Amino acid sequence: MDISVVIPLLNEEESLPELEAWIHRVMNEHGFSYEIIMIDDGSTDGSWKVIEKLSARNPAVRGVKFRRNYGKSAALHTGFRRTQGDVVITMDADLQDSPEEIPELYRMIMTDGYDLVSGWKKERFDSFIKNRTSKFFNAVTRWVSKIPLHDFNCGLKAYKGSVVSTIEVYGEMHRYIPLLAKWAGFTNIGEKVVKHQARKYGTTKFGLERFVNGFLDLMSIVFVGKFRKRPMHFFGTAGILMFAAGALATVYLGVNKAIHLYRNEEAQLIAENPFFFLALTCLILGSQLFLAGFVAELVARNAPGRNKYIIEADMTTTTEQEA
Ligand code: UDP
Ligand code: MG
Repeated sequence: MDISVVIPLLNEEESLPELEAWIHRVMNEHGFSYEIIMIDDGSTDGSWKVIEKLSARNPAVRGVKFRRNYGKSAALHTGFRRTQGDVVITMDADLQDSPEEIPELYRMIMTDGYDLVSGWKKERFDSFIKNRTSKFFNAVTRWVSKIPLHDFNCGLKAYKGSVVSTIEVYGEMHRYIPLLAKWAGFTNIGEKVVKHQARKYGTTKFGLERFVNGFLDLMSIVFVGKFRKRPMHFFGTAGILMFAAGALATVYLGVNKAIHLYRNEEAQLIAENPFFFLALTCLILGSQLFLAGFVAELVARNAPGRNKYIIEADMTTTTEQEA
C-alpha cells in the first residue's frame, strides 16, 4: 500500500464527509493505493456514526473509537500502530489542512528520501494571539532541538513507514514529534509550505491552556530526551554542586572561627553567621538531589522499553546462528 492517512478527531461530524471525499479524489487522480485511519478520540457528537457510514461506502476508510477523550497524542499513537502504507500522512479532521498536499509530500519521502516532512502553515488562518505565541514556541523549540523547522505543531505531516512504527507519541507530545523522530535516529527532516484554511465547521479543541501545557511539555521532553536513561547524571551533577557549595561554606565557618579563637578575638557565634544557613541549606539540598537521583535510577531501570535500541541492519542474526 502506498499511503496511510491517519486522522485524529474529536467532535468533527460536519467535516468528515467532505474530508473523506476530498482525500478519495486526490488519491484517485494520482493512482495511489491508500487507507484512511480515523481515530475518534471520544467524540460526543455523531462522528462515529459518520465514520461507520463512510467506511461502509469506502472500504479504504477504517475507524478506531476511544471510549473517552485521551488527547491528540494518544489518537496519533494508536493510529500509527495500525498503518500499512509505505508513507504515513497525518492531518487534522477540521479541513484546515488540504489533501492536495499529499502527492508532493509522498514524493518528498519516496524520492527525496526524507524520513519526515513537516507542513509549514506559512500563511495562517488562526487567531492573532495563537499566531504570535506559536512563533515564539517554534523559535524556542528550534533552538532547543537544533531542527530547522518553522512549524513543529503542524497537523499535516508525512512520515516514512518505519518512522511511525518506532516512535512513541505519549502524553501531549504530538507538538514535538520531529524531536521524537530525531532522537530515534531519523535525522533527515524536511519541511514543505502548505496551504492552510480557516476552520469551516465546529470550534478549536485546544483552549488557552495549550500555551502553558506546551511549555511544560517542552521542558519535560528536553529533560526526558537527555536524561531518561541516566537520571543520576542530572541529579548527581546538581547534587555535587550543591554539596560542594555547602562543604565550602562549612569549611569557611570552621576556619573563620578557629582564626578568631587563635587570635583571642571575640568570635561570632557560628549560628549567627549567614554562611551557617547557606551551608545548612546546601548540604540538605545536595543530599536530597542525590536521593532523587538514586530513586530515579531505580525507576529507570525498571521502565518499559529500557533497552529499546533501534537497529537498522544486523549481520549477526543469520538463520544458521538461530538454528
Ligand atoms: N483533536 C483530537 N483530540 C483532542 C483534541 C483535538 O483528536 O483531544 C483533533 C481535532 O479533532 C482536530 C485536530 O486534533 O482534528 C486538531 O485540533 P484543532 O483543530 O482543534 O486544533 P487547532 O487547529 O486549533 O490547533
Ligand atoms: Mg484546527
